[in-house]
Amino acid sequence: MDFETDNNNEFYHKIECFNKERTEKLSYHYNEIIKLLGEDPCREGLVKTPYRVAKAMQFMTQGYTQDPEKILRSALFKEDYRQMVIVKDIEIYSLCEHHMLPFIGRAHVAYIPNGYITGLSKIARVVEAFARRLQVQERLTHDIKTCIQNTLNPLGVAVVIEAQHMCMILRGVQKQHSVTTTSDFSGAFEKLATREEFIRLISNKFH
Ligand SMILES: [Zn+2]
Repeated sequence: MDFETDNNNEFYHKIECFNKERTEKLSYHYNEIIKLLGEDPCREGLVKTPYRVAKAMQFMTQGYTQDPEKILRSALFKEDYRQMVIVKDIEIYSLCEHHMLPFIGRAHVAYIPNGYITGLSKIARVVEAFARRLQVQERLTHDIKTCIQNTLNPLGVAVVIEAQHMCMILRGVQKQHSVTTTSDFSGAFEKLATREEFIRLISNKFH
């Protein structure tokens, strides 16, 4: 693939890779969209907007280029630990597939190892790889659970996501403070006592 590197910011080292051909095509279409919205894409503030949006959208959908199962398999460690491992408050920045508007929130993920553990940062990377796509919160929750279940083969997986959807806040019913919670559990977490322990631990305010 033909990639273009954008790392000429002198204040911080930002290195982002974009597909050049895709960026050009997206820019063309965003230029058309700006016109259809009644704006003048040639006025100064908007001249580079199609290009910026093209890059931003590729950044926000970069999950399509990532393989979450591979991320987990790259850091599997044999370990006898069989208690709950919880990674909580993983930030979520995703795009709702119905409106292509952001939904943002937090994911809490737990698993009970069955011979293997993974690097904790890998759990966050799996969440990120699924979130950076066009999603619905329900499928995002399920995708994360299934990926961990399939690769680590643990005794159980639990995923809870709390998020605010811009499509509810900015348009439609315009509900500013509603939070959507989704959850998915497998294996040992299907037992009420285990699930309650998980919920109690993610509800604790100390870190
Ligand atoms: Zn939506």
